[in-house]
Amino acid sequence: VNLANGDPTEEGTLKGDKGLKNETEIDQNSYLLRAIRLAKNEACLLACALLCLGLSSLSSLILPSYQGRILDHVIQRDVSLFKRDVLLLIAFSLMTGLFEAVRNLCFAVVGKRVLKTLQDKLFMGIVIQDIAYFDGTTSGELTSRLTNDVSSMAEPVNWMLSALLRNCLSLVGGFTMCFMISWKLSMLAFTTMAPIMHITAVYSRWSRELNRKRYALLAEANSAASEAIGNIRTVRAFSTEDTELDRFKSKTYGAMQKGVRDAYAYAGAVAVNDWLDLGASVLILWYGGVLVMNDRLSAGKLITFQLYWNQIQSAYQSIMSVLMSLTRAAGAAQRVLSLVDALPDIDRNSGTQISKLDGEIKLENLYFCYQMRPQHPVLQGVDLTVGKGDVCALVGRSGGGKSTIVHLLMRFYDPTAGRILLDGWDLRDLNLKSVHQHMGLVAQETQMFACSILENITYGLSSWRQEDLEEAAKYANAHDFIMKFPEGYATRVGERGVRLSGGQRQRIAIARMLLRRPKVLLLDEATSSLDTESEALVQQALDRLIGEGGRTIVLVAHRLSTVRNADNIAVLDKGRLVEQGTHEELLMQKSGVYEKLVRRQLHKVSNRIMED
Ligand code: ADP
Repeated sequence: VNLANGDPTEEGTLKGDKGLKNETEIDQNSYLLRAIRLAKNEACLLACALLCLGLSSLSSLILPSYQGRILDHVIQRDVSLFKRDVLLLIAFSLMTGLFEAVRNLCFAVVGKRVLKTLQDKLFMGIVIQDIAYFDGTTSGELTSRLTNDVSSMAEPVNWMLSALLRNCLSLVGGFTMCFMISWKLSMLAFTTMAPIMHITAVYSRWSRELNRKRYALLAEANSAASEAIGNIRTVRAFSTEDTELDRFKSKTYGAMQKGVRDAYAYAGAVAVNDWLDLGASVLILWYGGVLVMNDRLSAGKLITFQLYWNQIQSAYQSIMSVLMSLTRAAGAAQRVLSLVDALPDIDRNSGTQISKLDGEIKLENLYFCYQMRPQHPVLQGVDLTVGKGDVCALVGRSGGGKSTIVHLLMRFYDPTAGRILLDGWDLRDLNLKSVHQHMGLVAQETQMFACSILENITYGLSSWRQEDLEEAAKYANAHDFIMKFPEGYATRVGERGVRLSGGQRQRIAIARMLLRRPKVLLLDEATSSLDTESEALVQQALDRLIGEGGRTIVLVAHRLSTVRNADNIAVLDKGRLVEQGTHEELLMQKSGVYEKLVRRQLHKVSNRIMED
């Protein structure tokens, strides 16, 4: 007996769904059709698979009758018929095997292709989502969808559909043959089916619920593990390995307890079903034996009946198992399709294409709050103009909304109210891909890919010139340190650039941006302090950029040295623009916010000098 058991593909609920605005409500039952429709390009292979399935089912249905006949020929000592039927049995067995092999192959190939299509579609669905969506989910959850959920969803095409059809044919064929042999024997054997069906249904329902909770706990364990591994340096620094282990253990313990409960129930249900199966065999042999002894049935037919009955039992169990897996696959499909179908609010492909940018920026009465914290206003009516080729420094206390303005300028988010104008165009009316070709961002946290320095600097460019690459790297004060590595530009930087220092990562990020020669530069200065030498080198690169002119630069700055040369300094406090002007103008405003900030920094610097 093969009772459908739990499957590790069912993961816990994914919080990220809450971030999806246009999420389509998918009827769980209609997902199967969606999965099958994905295989429409494989119509030929599928047709071949279905043909082989029908033929193999038919020929396997014929086998038991030949097995019974051979036994009867043995009893009657009819050698010629015996030989003929043995040869036919061999022929049918070979045919069944061949059709089965082709069927398996075709379904497996279609399944793998559908899996690939789904993976690609889902990855596409993920990367086009709004940044706000990623604020509400974790990379662990998304990769779980890409791996577990996608393969669960492809399973119907991979094997379930084929198993379901084959077993349904076996079931119908088996019943027909049994009834043709003896309807009385069939009715008797059938009495054991009712309790088996009942027990299977009750167990399945109970186990489904239990396993849902178990996989939710396992998903939490996975999250805890990936968080601890991702933050391993912090874990090590605080010696919290045991705390992390306890957190992980509490989840796996809960999952194990549920798994053990399921194992008890499974073993019980299997035992009862096995007894009922054996009971059916005993009934068949007992009543069938009586029929044989009364010459109302041949011994061979009795054996044939038993073989068909075995086929019915295993087909029924397989169907139940497939149906249970289908429910799980439906859940996975819902999680996958909700993302595949969800359209981002910010469409990167529509809007007016721009071939050049002068670089004038205007923020008009800008209001904003993040989707994850709708009650917390981050920007409250900001008006700011940055002229073409000007340098504007955003300063103010932490949490004032400076980085948020940079995010809005990149259109990672759309403002809640107000507008952002770029060369007089509303940013929302422009084609974002074309805008990004003229805009460069050096974010506060430098993001690196686990490839070479060269690939990191030229990221996203299809062609570049070596001279330009080196020029950008030199400009960013990165060339010298890169050349000191034995492998130079081919040096691999490790996951998220862990093999580089913070300052080196920042200088590579500056080079990456410069190579694109953007007209508008957005620099979000890192708050984390670098070592003095790195800081000086990054600072020098930034000063060079700012001093050069010809580009509009918006920079979030924490260092007075970066800020003082800006054409315009905008002071933000709690989401409002409280002061703006040049360094000198703002210093004139005694006890203004800027003046206080400068005083505080000068105080810090003098303290440092005294400490030194
Ligand atoms: P600043 O750059 O001036 O230090 P930010 O623009 O980073 O300030 O943040 C402004 C406010 O927005 C802060 O209160 C911060 O907690 C909040 N915030 C920033 N990013 C997010 C986000 N992705 N989701 C929710 N709140 C955020």
